[in-house]
Amino acid sequence: MDSSVFVFAEDLRGEGVERVLDKIKGYGAAGVTVGAVHHAVRDVTPHGLSRLTVRHDGAHFPPPADLFSGLRLRPLAGHQDTFDGLREACAERGLRLHGWSVFLRNATLGRAHPDVTVRDCFGDRGSPADLCPAHPDARAYAVALARAVARLGVESVVAESLHFRPLRAGRSFVPLGPMDAYLFGLCFCDYCMRRAADLGVDAEVAREECAGILGRVLDGDPPAQGEVTRAALTAYAGPDVVAYARARSETVTTLVSDVAAAVGDEGSRLVFADATGAVKGYRDGLPTPGPAAHDAWQLGVDLVALGDLVPAFAVLAYARDAARVADDVGAYLRSVGKDREVRAVLRPGHPDTDSADRLVAKARAAKAAGAAAVDFYAYGLMPHPVLDRVPAALAEVR
Ligand SMILES: [Zn+2]
Repeated sequence: MDSSVFVFAEDLRGEGVERVLDKIKGYGAAGVTVGAVHHAVRDVTPHGLSRLTVRHDGAHFPPPADLFSGLRLRPLAGHQDTFDGLREACAERGLRLHGWSVFLRNATLGRAHPDVTVRDCFGDRGSPADLCPAHPDARAYAVALARAVARLGVESVVAESLHFRPLRAGRSFVPLGPMDAYLFGLCFCDYCMRRAADLGVDAEVAREECAGILGRVLDGDPPAQGEVTRAALTAYAGPDVVAYARARSETVTTLVSDVAAAVGDEGSRLVFADATGAVKGYRDGLPTPGPAAHDAWQLGVDLVALGDLVPAFAVLAYARDAARVADDVGAYLRSVGKDREVRAVLRPGHPDTDSADRLVAKARAAKAAGAAAVDFYAYGLMPHPVLDRVPAALAEVR
């Protein structure tokens, strides 16, 4: 069974490439998945150079001029020497090198180019970090970025945020149910509306329905109860909104197809990671009912369509329960096709895992359900005693 450990550029800078790779080799992992492009965030890093690490929106390599010279969106400069000599250092240890890239989550680019960000049903652009997958400039940026990461000589490009993202409302003293939040997160930019209209959807009616429902909730109506399903959404918001939401998958499928082809051209391969598993279980490892694969459509991710276009998928199996990990892996395989590579991403510590035995059980469950690999998230975020659970889990599935 294949395996890797997610590593941040800051981990390699703080602790040194040799030391980090030696540790990961010592865990028995087959490879490392190194952050090549990340989003801005502050992380507690228990054994890092600093205990609180400030990450910025940026690429940890020099962006090739030929890929970005004609584009409006270009990656911001991160720690540009991160990949210098990294491939050789991995090869010396027999470790596979994968490049992990965040695509459309970038508040710095979004603030500089607000027209590229998502626009809600009221016409507001309140989510600078969310670049719209329908915008041509965002799409051109994503394809060039994928090519650039592939050119680092990585075996695969692991794609994060290459789809629509759920609403992050920030502070709200208005109770919003899951369905209200979902409607609030739908993008109604000109490009999204045009694409939906091209598919026969009445986009303006959908926008008006959303604005009407949300307007009433913001005026004090009680929020909708229950989780987002197609049936519940149809009952709550009507068929035009559901048709509009479903039309988003064409936007994402065509983008992922272009990105997968670009990565393939450069001699690497795409591993597509959609955020649904994180949406459901990130906070506490107790994901909402129903496997992630069944909810991926909400972010515009059509796993059945992508199964024909993408060689590999990463499932964010952010769950405490081993049976739940197996359910998620099984549901992905049924959606993308049994012959596709599905990798289970496990968090070896808080909030998903409280012991080595639990991590072993989850790795075993992932393998039994048909996962081709387990990946562990992430080196710099977990204390050393937590990382020391990884060898037992890998020994179980090797
Ligand atoms: Zn849009």
